[in-house]
Amino acid sequence: MRKIEDKRDKNRTFKKDSSFLKAEENVFDVPTLKLLYTLANKGYITEMGGSISTGKEANVFYATGNEGEVAVKIYRLTSGTFKAMDPYILKDPRFSNIRHSRKDIVFAWTQKEAQNLLRIRKAGVRAPRPIVNDRNVLVMEFMGKDKIPFPLLKDTPLDDADAQNLFDQIIEGMRRLYVRAHLVHSDLSEYNILVDVEKMEAVIIDVGQAVTLDHPNVREFMARDIENILRFFKKYGIKEDKKIISDRVKER
Ligand code: ADP
Ligand code: MN
Repeated sequence: MRKIEDKRDKNRTFKKDSSFLKAEENVFDVPTLKLLYTLANKGYITEMGGSISTGKEANVFYATGNEGEVAVKIYRLTSGTFKAMDPYILKDPRFSNIRHSRKDIVFAWTQKEAQNLLRIRKAGVRAPRPIVNDRNVLVMEFMGKDKIPFPLLKDTPLDDADAQNLFDQIIEGMRRLYVRAHLVHSDLSEYNILVDVEKMEAVIIDVGQAVTLDHPNVREFMARDIENILRFFKKYGIKEDKKIISDRVKER
């Protein structure tokens, strides 16, 4: 009896709230929409706001929930370039036993992103706090203020002193990631770093592909991250040697 009651209640809420994602109906498959309703019923999402970003594999939305402003990152199950995920996840020892269907890779990827965010934060690097994740949806702390996300590093106007400050923060962040969290971001660039301009603080995002140091390609991934950062900061007069930076990142 009780079970039936619960079921009916659930359906009612489902119906009542079904307008708030209407606009996204074509983007998301039915299981994803159902999952969003479940997260809404649990209070993680009370109001879905606008789209922040439409990427190759995921959409990011602004929302509010019981924990305040949140960002909802939704990996699409129906379109996207999931082959790009393979080298990062299939050789990660933490995920060695996943089945290799696309759906399973996406679910493992979402899980890995949430785990990585936690590890990164524990290492003392600023990154969004993961709030809840399930299947292909990650709800995390919104990095921004009054509905406006912090700008990407690439879009932040900087004077040379700001640039030097952020550069030092980013290299120190990579060092903490490497030495304390045993992680390499593996997609680090001015596109995956936000800037809290008021505090002039770097915020690391998009960590689904970050790998542990036992990943076979970790050296190559780290070299690429360092090259991206050096390339970006060159125009602010920062010229460092990549070998010296690499040594600095590994310093205990
Ligand atoms: P993608 O895989 O599509 O690159 P990202 O994780 O980089 O996904 O997110 C895409 C964009 O969404 C980011 O460039 C940033 O502007 C915004 N974004 C992502 N996470 C957050 C967050 N926690 N708070 C605010 N904005 C975010
Ligand atoms: Mn990104």
